[in-house]
Parts: sequence; structure tokens; C-alpha cells
Amino acid sequence: MNELVVKSLSASYGLAVAFTDVSITVAKGETVGLLGRNGAGKTTLLKAIIHDPELTLRGEISVNNVSLGKFPAYKVARHGVAWVPDNRRIFTALSVAENLDLARSKTAPKDQLDRVLTNIPLVEKLMKRRGYELSGGEQQAVTIARALMSAPDYLLLDEPTEGLAPLIVEQLQAAIGALPAQFDVGILITEQNFSFVTGLADRVHILETGQMVWAGPPDELVSKPQLIDRHLSVGEK
Ligand code: ATP
Repeated sequence: MNELVVKSLSASYGLAVAFTDVSITVAKGETVGLLGRNGAGKTTLLKAIIHDPELTLRGEISVNNVSLGKFPAYKVARHGVAWVPDNRRIFTALSVAENLDLARSKTAPKDQLDRVLTNIPLVEKLMKRRGYELSGGEQQAVTIARALMSAPDYLLLDEPTEGLAPLIVEQLQAAIGALPAQFDVGILITEQNFSFVTGLADRVHILETGQMVWAGPPDELVSKPQLIDRHLSVGEK
């Protein structure tokens, strides 16, 4: 079965527990959303999947039936998992073309760059620009394009809308929404932007202070304001 499976996973930073007993599955070609308030553990779950060495992990992670065991992050990437961090981290002194070239993996199809540029046309227009010349939205598009250069089976997107203007968020939603069909990739996406995720995801999970408290279809979540209020709203009640 082509799935990314996280089973009964717990993660801590030293003695500080970030989340416990979390299970989540992402099939190739589907989009799974992960919602939760600040500090709920969303970013840590993505870091756990790529085996960030900062974390101590307990539980199981497998990709297409291969257990990732104690593989270091670079080996996890070789098993088809690409991470798009929230701070984007492109090489600002390099051109977009150089950023993409560095991310090319030996196992990716030879025409992967063409496929990426065809499907994310904005990036094609930016190829000669240096990282520091890009807007936040352009950087986000390049970061996603870079992750696709390894032809991953699964893409982990961490808060892609952070700091972006509403119009750019709309364009980004359309671009991400097209990726599963274009690249047969499974997407796990964390967000604080509720409508962005419910508009994209096939299924949604909610994390609250390190516990998975709800999972279901986005329509069900949208129709239950009490759930949103209990697990996602912020500020005074
Ligand atoms: P946000 O939406 O604000 O990014 P999040 O849901 O992604 O929040 P995490 O960043 O995963 O939450 O944080 C989960 C918990 O782990 C929080 O209690 C946070 O303070 C803690 N944490 C995060 N990074 C570290 C770290 N490097 N060292 C120690 N604790 C950390």
C-alpha cells in the first residue's frame, strides 16, 4: 500500500514532551490537513516524520511499507519524503535555477525540472532571480518547486501561508491543490489558516497540546462551529 503511516508516535525535545500517541496516514495522491493552535505540536510532527535529530521519538513511521526505523533525515528523504519548512530556507545568494539544481536527486526522472516548471509556471519566470530578490509568495513557490525536484511520494508542508497576502494565499491554494494529480504526491499540510486547509484537504486532523483530538472530513468540521470553538479558536471566550 502506498502510504505514509505514523503509528502511536510520541516526540520530545529532551525532557519536554511535544506530542504523544499520534497516528496519521497519508496516501499517495491525497491531501491531509493538520490544524491546531500555536504550540499544539504541528511543526514537531513534521519534524518527527523526517527524523529531526533534535527529537527523541517513540512509535512507528513507515513509507510505502518500509519502516523508517532510526534512519537519519537524509535517508528519510531518499525514501520519498520531502519537507517544506515554514521559514522557507532557500539559498538567498543563489539564483532560483541554482536552488532547484541543488535539490535535484539522482533518482528523479530526467525531465523533473520541466515537469516542475510546467506545473508551477510562476517559478519558470523567476529562474534567473536571486533568492533575496523574491517576495514571500515567490519564495514559497520556489520552496515547493525545490521539494518536488526530488520527485517525492510525500510532501510535508509547514504553514505555507504564513506571512502571505490574501491574494497570494489564494494562488498558492490553487497551486497546491493541483499537485496531487500532477505529481501523484501525498500531502500533509499544517496550518493555522482554517479555510486554506479545509478547502484543500481530503481529511483533517486536529492537534491540541500534543494530543490528536479530532479527525474527519473537512465538511464535517466546517459544519460544527462548536468543534472549531473548542479546539481551534483563539482569544477571549
Ligand atoms: P505553531 O503553529 O506556533 O508553529 P505548532 O503547533 O507547530 O505551533 P510546535 O512548534 O510543534 O507547535 O511546538 C510544540 C511544542 O514543542 C510547544 O510546546 C513548543 O514550545 C515546543 N517546542 C518547539 N520547538 C522546540 C524546541 N526546539 N525545543 C524545545 N521545545 C520546543
